Amino acid sequence: MNLQSPISSLQSPVAPSRIHILGIAVDDVLPDEAMERLAGWLAQGGPHHVVTVNPEFVMEARRNPAFRQVLHAADMALPDGVGLLYAARFLGMPLRGRVTGVELTHRLAALAAERGVRLFLLGAAPGVAEEAAAALVSRYPGLTIAGCYAGTPQPRHEPFLRQLIAAARPDVLLVAYGHPRQDMWIARNQPFVQVPIAVGVGGVFDYLAGHVPLAPAWLRRLGLEWLYRLLKQPHRWRRIFTAVVAFTWAVVTKGKAEG
Ligand code: UDP
Repeated sequence: MNLQSPISSLQSPVAPSRIHILGIAVDDVLPDEAMERLAGWLAQGGPHHVVTVNPEFVMEARRNPAFRQVLHAADMALPDGVGLLYAARFLGMPLRGRVTGVELTHRLAALAAERGVRLFLLGAAPGVAEEAAAALVSRYPGLTIAGCYAGTPQPRHEPFLRQLIAAARPDVLLVAYGHPRQDMWIARNQPFVQVPIAVGVGGVFDYLAGHVPLAPAWLRRLGLEWLYRLLKQPHRWRRIFTAVVAFTWAVVTKGKAEG
């Protein structure tokens, strides 16, 4: 891996300020700043954990202390969901922008192709990680995929997955088991696999593989991604209700007291 480059010379960018929404940590970080930190960690090595927080994460973490602890211990908590930006503004501590898991994955793949950084894609349904990897390689020629594997987030499969990942020697491990499983998985296994950067990416492989459509940019700009998801994936209505209605209600009624 070649990290002798302008970005890696910015070894220690200042840590972003961290706010709390309903008691859950979120970093006020923009995409370029997130990439600067990631490039620094690639040069530095050592295990790091990045979480891509959205309103569903916040609601889950409020009732799941183990998940809450994992989110708080993360090295970077990216503001992924647009609902967090609205909530932060309402609570008087605005976030400057959003860093989605999809955007982060594209940027990491671009950086990886340029610098010889090795990516491992873990999770999603069988075959999807391979399709996602192929999509990334065709978009970022020269990208090295250290491995792809669906596996499962069940603890009994961990010894095998650790061996597989250790043998593949990735620099970046993308884990797509959905929340909270993917982040609990990373917290349990990073001490063993010691990948410089591990990121919980949720449904990103499904998007990259073209199995789930990404909402059009204009809807995303309006913060109406949830409406698009509701139309395209009506079976997710309960999750969308949690992210949109239950989260908004909690922020409005308890956000100022719990911030
Ligand atoms: N997934 C998996 N194994 C599981 C549960 C989920 O591989 O036991 C995958 C699933 O196939 C999908 C991703 O995890 O690719 C979860 O996507 P989702 O959009 O639900 O992510 P979230 O919104 O929770 O971040």
